[in-house]
Amino acid sequence: MSDVLVTENIQGASMNDLMQDLDVEFDAYLWQNVNLLKQKLEQAQALIVRNQTKVNQELIDAAPNLKIIARAGAGLDNVDTAYAKEKGIVVSYTPDANSLSVAELTLGLMLALLRKIPEARQDTLTGGWNRVKFTGCELHGKTLGLIGMGRIGTLTATRARAFGMKIIAADPYLKADAPHLQELDGKLVSLDELLAQADVITCHSPLTPDTRKMLTYQHFSKMKPEAFFINTSRGEVVDERGLIQALMEHKLAGAALDVRETEPPHQSALNQLENVILTPHIAAFTLEAQERVVEAVCEDVRLVLSG
Ligand code: NAD
Repeated sequence: MSDVLVTENIQGASMNDLMQDLDVEFDAYLWQNVNLLKQKLEQAQALIVRNQTKVNQELIDAAPNLKIIARAGAGLDNVDTAYAKEKGIVVSYTPDANSLSVAELTLGLMLALLRKIPEARQDTLTGGWNRVKFTGCELHGKTLGLIGMGRIGTLTATRARAFGMKIIAADPYLKADAPHLQELDGKLVSLDELLAQADVITCHSPLTPDTRKMLTYQHFSKMKPEAFFINTSRGEVVDERGLIQALMEHKLAGAALDVRETEPPHQSALNQLENVILTPHIAAFTLEAQERVVEAVCEDVRLVLSG
């Protein structure tokens, strides 16, 4: 039984330092065994998780000594923050540490979609040399529609501006005169306007009761047939069946998803669609972001456990 429990694959120099100073139990797969996790939580004072561990009432009730739940990453949708607060447990997370990496992956997916990079690679590997077939489009002059323009949305928009894209955003909490929108010559629009106008749509809203399955078949049907959709936020924001139907009916040109409704995902029609790029929730997985994330959670745990 340890003071600090790490239930997912969270490693780095700062974690090694923490292990030297405190009694830390590290088990990258503990999140999969809820009964064992509950037993180990009896003594734990700190719980360090990524996004797989569902820190719900049941887990929190099993942890009478818990002082802090430290979430390595952005988005607290896997933690019952209200119940933790009720129990006097500090909940910390690292919202800034991986934003840049997520924005960079979003740009990478944008280029991969518009220049058909994955299909061209596959074709070349199987002996093809089809240059005309893989004619793509430039980002320059295209309109980027951001659903959610907080940290990651803004970093994505800044990078897209450097490619010469125009920026529009739909965000119920954003003001039309927000400085970060104005600096990018961006325009606040309704979701319907965004769907109708954008050539590339990227989603950066958090998962909340309001945003769960916020984007449905009806929404994807309003996109331009030559437009692309990219999600690097949370899979549950999208009604995946609706997206599949819209893709099959060519209501949009293609999609790239780093996040899925269920993770890991079940067999899906998305796997068979050529104009779809799927990545396994890797947006935050860069060496730099992971070191920043681990450093931040270890610091939070030290602070709380040292009183
Ligand atoms: P943020 O809080 O800075 O920004 C979120 C923005 O979404 C805010 O501006 C908010 O007003 C807006 N928003 C809220 N409800 C909305 C709605 N209904 N429609 C449109 N916009 C809405 O968060 P962030 O740091 O930019 O991160 C965004 C999300 O990205 C996180 O919540 C997390 O789920 C996800 N994320 C994913 C990864 C990954 O590995 N793929 C990594 C980090 C973060």
